[in-house]
Amino acid sequence: VSLVVVETADCAGFVRGRILDKVGQHGADTSELFFDDVRVPIDNLLGGVEGQGFGQLMTQLAQERLIIGVTAVATMESAVDETVAYVKSREAFGHTLFDFQNTKFTLAECQTTAHVARVFLDSCIERHLRGELDSTTAAMAKWWLTEQPCQVVDRCVQLFGGYGYMREYPIARMFADSRVQKIYGGSNEIMKDLIARSL
Ligand SMILES: Cc1cc2nc3c(=O)[nH]c(=O)nc-3n(C[C@H](O)[C@H](O)[C@H](O)COP(=O)(O)OP(=O)(O)OC[C@H]3O[C@@H](n4cnc5c(N)ncnc54)[C@H](O)[C@@H]3O)c2cc1C
Repeated sequence: VSLVVVETADCAGFVRGRILDKVGQHGADTSELFFDDVRVPIDNLLGGVEGQGFGQLMTQLAQERLIIGVTAVATMESAVDETVAYVKSREAFGHTLFDFQNTKFTLAECQTTAHVARVFLDSCIERHLRGELDSTTAAMAKWWLTEQPCQVVDRCVQLFGGYGYMREYPIARMFADSRVQKIYGGSNEIMKDLIARSL
């Protein structure tokens, strides 16, 4: 495997297909790309030596997994902030939603999860900055941190009631956007497989 830069402007054989209709992350287009007998100059070989591609990809995987973890934690923190603000403003049966014990307990649990996730994430970032983030820990961060928003945001959606299902509310978009994080960047099952190899 080698990595080659393909300049797509006026490139014979390169065609963009349709933009895929994703469940979430509508702010970022994901499109089919076709490369049919495309020819590129030899100078476009990244790194200048053939056959280095797999290694080049591998060196960036831990960082990619960390970036996904950052998004996961930021989503949870943002979801809790949005929900606290909403439940304190919405009144039902003579109280704000925040006055109900169920609301407080739910948000206390979500905030705890977000905080624990943040502490683990920060530890991974510190390791990364020291150049010491190993692939096993990065895999732990990717799978565990991306599982949490799917539960936290779902519980926050519930506290928004019907508004939580409307895309005009950020919490609904967080709900749709978080799901793919368990799939891409290496699926969470693959992450667990990687961790198990270290045991
Ligand atoms: C919105 C979006 C953006 C993406 N962006 C990128 C990108 O920028 N770059 C990129 O390279 N890829 C990207 N991907 C691809 C993504 O990384 C893959 O979809 C993902 O790795 C899963 O691979 P797959 O779709 O082939 O599923 P499959 O490999 O078919 O997996 C299907 C299911 O089987 C499970 N499975 C597969 N193998 C095993 C195994 N050995 N043990 C246990 N379970 C297993 C998987 O965990 C999953 O649950 C993107 C995908 C999406 C949806």
